[in-house]
Parts: sequence; structure tokens; C-alpha cells
Amino acid sequence: MLSLIKVPQVLTINQVPKVFQEDCIISGYRQPRSSAVDCIRSLFQLTNETLNIWTHFLPTWYFLWKLVTVVLMQTAWQDSLTWPLLVFLFSCCIYPLASSCAHTFSSMSTRARHICFFFDYGALSFYSLGSAVVYSAYVFPDKWTNGYFHQCYIPIAVFNAIISTTVACYSRLGFPFLQYNHDVTRRFPECQSPKFSKFLRVIAFAYPYLFDNIPLFYRVFLCAGEGCTDNETNMLHYKHVALAFLTGFLFATHLPERLAPGSFDYIGHSHQLFHVFAILGTHFQMQAVEQDMAIRRPWLTANSLPITFANSMGPALVCLVLNCIIIALFSLPLLSGPGGNHGKEQKKT
Ligand SMILES: [Zn+2]
Repeated sequence: MLSLIKVPQVLTINQVPKVFQEDCIISGYRQPRSSAVDCIRSLFQLTNETLNIWTHFLPTWYFLWKLVTVVLMQTAWQDSLTWPLLVFLFSCCIYPLASSCAHTFSSMSTRARHICFFFDYGALSFYSLGSAVVYSAYVFPDKWTNGYFHQCYIPIAVFNAIISTTVACYSRLGFPFLQYNHDVTRRFPECQSPKFSKFLRVIAFAYPYLFDNIPLFYRVFLCAGEGCTDNETNMLHYKHVALAFLTGFLFATHLPERLAPGSFDYIGHSHQLFHVFAILGTHFQMQAVEQDMAIRRPWLTANSLPITFANSMGPALVCLVLNCIIIALFSLPLLSGPGGNHGKEQKKT
């Protein structure tokens, strides 16, 4: 019985291969060749990943509950104005779920780690598309509604999401087959320049976020006079934007652990804070778009582009399929060889 609940010993940074090491996190590492069962057990053991997992696993259920509520309560399938909200809420379920799974199973092997985070990146870029779909439907200021930018907005957002997934996956190992194969020692950017890899990843996620928010930023920060949609939802939008910038700041700076390496290994390091503020930001974003939808429904129904499959679920489906293809292409060389060899690995997430 005791052996059933016995948890594996945690390791220090010098006991794990470089690919598993995190900046300024000194202890609390799981075994780099954990079994799937050990990974699941680690949810109940304090490691440096435990709170990373829970801070996205629990919110997955919250957003799933919201999605189910909308599907059941608002006769969503008959009311096409609700479809963008469904797409957005679905993306809000997918990204924390993919993230918590990635953090749970990333210690199974080097290859598993890369593949887990490819899915994490794909889910984040899908969330950016979900945001674009819902902004196009409910958040565009009156002034810009039906304009040329509005009509191009979702196709560009799909393109951006695909580029985002590609750049984020590229930032780990380079291009599949060209710069790495099953023998991952040939991999390109991270071993040569981990800072460049991190920079690529920040750009990969910041760029679609900034593009998606152009109509919102214009509406709440720049627009003056008629047609600015200056309603009571703007306060919720401000909260979401503030939290989004805080999230990006934490991801890019590795604060607070950079100031005191080893002091925040288990609780309070930047990645946990990044998760928590991302979820809080998404929560306010969800409240804001729901409120905009409710307040502006009559005006949108009369004046905005009609909501169809082609500007709501269609782009989401295209993005989902293309993201899966990209992830498969980046994962294929890792799956085609013999088992993962940590010893040859050079650098980290
Ligand atoms: Zn994470």
C-alpha cells in the first residue's frame, strides 16, 4: 500500500538534462524519465510543476462550465449571434487544458517534452483566433463595423495564428527534418541561442495578441466622438488588457525568481504567476465580450455583418486543422527514431 502512494524524489537543477532546466529554478524537478503514472501522481506531490498544472487544470473546468451553460441556456445553435461566443469559450477551454497536460507529461522524456509544448503553443494560438472571432462579432467599435479592416480581420487572424504556431514550435528545435531529426543533437536555435528562442516565442504570442486587439485598443484608448462604442463594458476591457500586459511581462522577464534564484522554486515563480494572470485576464475578457454581446445585440443585429459559419466556426475549424498539421510536422521527426536521449540535449524549454 505504501509503495502505491510513494512519490518519486525530486531533483535539483544539476541532476536533470539541460532541456528540462528552467531559468533560476534550482530545485523541485521531477525525474526526466517519469512514467505517465508518475506524472499523474506528481499532481499530488509538491514539485516545481505542481502549481503550473493546477493553475490551468482547474480553470479548464470553469471555462467548460461556462461553455456548457451557454450551449444549454441560450439556445445557442438557433441564435447565430452566439456562435462566436461558443468559439471563444471553446478556445478558453482548450488552452488551459493543453497547458496543464503539457506541464503534467513533459517529464516523460525529451521528445515528450517538446511534443507536449508544441500542443501548448498550438492551443495558445487557437485562443488568439477565438479572441479575434469574438471581437469581430461584438467588440469592433461602431465606427469600424463593416469597414474594409473588419472584413479582412478574421482571415488575417487565421493567418497570424498559423504563423504564431509555426514560429513558437520553430523556436524549440528549428525546422523539422531540415534542422533536426530523431537525433535531436542537430537542432538549431535553442542550443545556439536560448535568448533568441525565448525572443521568438514572445513575438509569436505577442504579435497575434496585439493584432487581435487593434479594434479594442482603438475603441478604448484612441477613439473620440461619435461611433466609439463607449459603454460600461470598457472597464472590463481595461482590466483584461492590464492583466494581459502583466502576463506578457512575467513571461518575458522571469520575475520574481530572477531576483532570488531558488526562493520561488515551488510557489510564486513567474510561470505560475503567468498562468494565474492569464486566466484572470481571460475571465475579464469573457465577461467583457458577454456584456458587449448583451448590450449591443439590437445594434449589432441591425447594423453589423451577419454571423455565419464562414465568420465564426469555419475559421476556427480551419485554424484547428492547420495547427494540428503543423504540430504533426514538427513532432514527426521526434517520433520516427528510437527512444528519447536526454544525454545529448543542450538546452531548455
Ligand atoms: Zn505553462
